[in-house]
Amino acid sequence: MRVLVSGGAGFIPSHLCEVLLSQGHEVVAVDNFVTGHRRNLQTLLVHPNFSFVEADVTKELPVAGRVDRVFHMASPASPIDYVQLPFETLYCGSDATRIALDRCRKDGARFLLASTSEVYGDPLVHPQPESYWGNVNPIGPRSVYDEAKRFAEAVTMAYHRYHGVETRIVRIFNTYGPRMRENDGRVMPAFISQALRRQPLTVFGDGQQTRSFCFVDDNVRGLLGLMESDLAEPCNIGNPHEMTMLELAEYINEYTGNPAGVVHRPLPQDDPTQRKPIIDRARATFGWEPRVGFAEGIERTVAYFRGIVQL
Ligand code: UDP
Repeated sequence: MRVLVSGGAGFIPSHLCEVLLSQGHEVVAVDNFVTGHRRNLQTLLVHPNFSFVEADVTKELPVAGRVDRVFHMASPASPIDYVQLPFETLYCGSDATRIALDRCRKDGARFLLASTSEVYGDPLVHPQPESYWGNVNPIGPRSVYDEAKRFAEAVTMAYHRYHGVETRIVRIFNTYGPRMRENDGRVMPAFISQALRRQPLTVFGDGQQTRSFCFVDDNVRGLLGLMESDLAEPCNIGNPHEMTMLELAEYINEYTGNPAGVVHRPLPQDDPTQRKPIIDRARATFGWEPRVGFAEGIERTVAYFRGIVQL
């Protein structure tokens, strides 16, 4: 198949492109490097079935020829990114989603929206099933991301219902692994790079807030499984292994032998207190569940950061 991946120079999408190529597909990635990185394309650009188009997907999708599948992955995706890039974030969810859906309608292609666990906001239901409608602050600092993704889900369902486009919606929970940006502000790259530099890890608030981390290989297998399933309803993809941020900090300090401990910093506004996916839908529909354990995932991620962190 010929597969278009928006945001192809990003963390998860670059891994997705790699797996698609290994399965024999032709892949066209589109990115404008607003948060993606050229370095993530290095292994892809040498592949004969890969091509890259530099473009702003909120304005256009200048890819010639028919495509069979569109993975709409483009968006700033870390809290500091979407605070610095509020309009890019809003338009990735709105304009870029509409443009990609129009393309699918024209080409008869199947569409997958990368949505997010952020549609659940600061969840009052725990753990989160897809049937939960969420608890989102519509005007808070995170709202440009959360509400853009909620709009993106709505416009995706509208194209499905009114135009008959084959659509898929994945709600991606916290994902980690090689190629995360060192300075994107997210907890994994922050803690790992601090630990490698023998600095104290910056725990926000009391560190009792929880997240559930999924290794990127498992995530990509989930995206591919969902795309080829017949599920038009949203589908959680994440690892239900939940931990507090203090537990995460202690694990990383112990694994890296960092003696510097932790320092506490103020908790950002609207920081969700808990997050854990229910993955029954993915398991029942396309037999997906995570395979990479936390210890292995951390080992592979720390190995990557050892290669890029300046000590
Ligand atoms: N966090 C932290 N220290 C950091 C960065 C993040 O304690 O240096 C916390 C943050 O407050 C949140 C959790 O780690 O509770 C996950 O944050 P991240 O930005 O990775 O993702 P998200 O909040 O979108 O789940």
